[in-house]
Amino acid sequence: MRYAIIADIHSNLAALTAVLDDIKHTGGADEIWCLGDIVGYGPDPRECLDIIRQTTNICVAGNHDWAVIGGKNEVDISEFNPDAAYADQWTAQQLSNEDMEYLSNLPLAIEKGDFTLVHGSPREPVREYLLSSGAARENLSYFTTRFCLVGHSHQPVVFYCKENGDVSARYFLPDNPVTTDEGRLIINPGSVGQPRDSNPDAAYAIYDSEQQLIRLHRIPYDIRATQKKMQAHGLPVRLAARLSYGV
Ligand code: ZN
Repeated sequence: MRYAIIADIHSNLAALTAVLDDIKHTGGADEIWCLGDIVGYGPDPRECLDIIRQTTNICVAGNHDWAVIGGKNEVDISEFNPDAAYADQWTAQQLSNEDMEYLSNLPLAIEKGDFTLVHGSPREPVREYLLSSGAARENLSYFTTRFCLVGHSHQPVVFYCKENGDVSARYFLPDNPVTTDEGRLIINPGSVGQPRDSNPDAAYAIYDSEQQLIRLHRIPYDIRATQKKMQAHGLPVRLAARLSYGV
């Protein structure tokens, strides 16, 4: 079986379409798993939500997904920087009741076979950024499966967790796939719609259960098309500009 793992789409339709096309043209996927933050920042929240609803088999909630629905949850737009807050308020105005309902029903964590899926971390699914081996180590007791998939930082990374408690990290790069017989792993497949590892190409991963490999893919997409739409909607200039640099 082949599983596509996508995260942090952030209303970037051009990036999402490029990723889904690439999945289709490179062997397809039996299932698509989404690690949250479908919306926020970008210009196409409704279109991205429609596609995610139709194409993904499982999806967890991200902090931006919860911020735009407001109300019942623990993520408040006022915690965001002004540009992100503005974009999320704009996003909320674009969404239908059905969209809001879908977002508000997304679970915080999903267990699927050997995998636990969360947006930020198993310990704090919509808040914590897993950026260090220390934080990864502290999170090991918060999930029981062998593998954990996270997003949120928009940076592709693999944390290797040894039985003696040692945790090491490495950048997750396309030419260096992860084999799934190396003990417990926490893996971030990077961001589809707003990469922040100084590479502007959209990122996603494919888990091939027969080959026991998880491979990262980077896909160039029409960044200018997304930036033009952001400009037309009056979304913050800084949010459009950062897409060119992957920061
Ligand atoms: Zn995000």
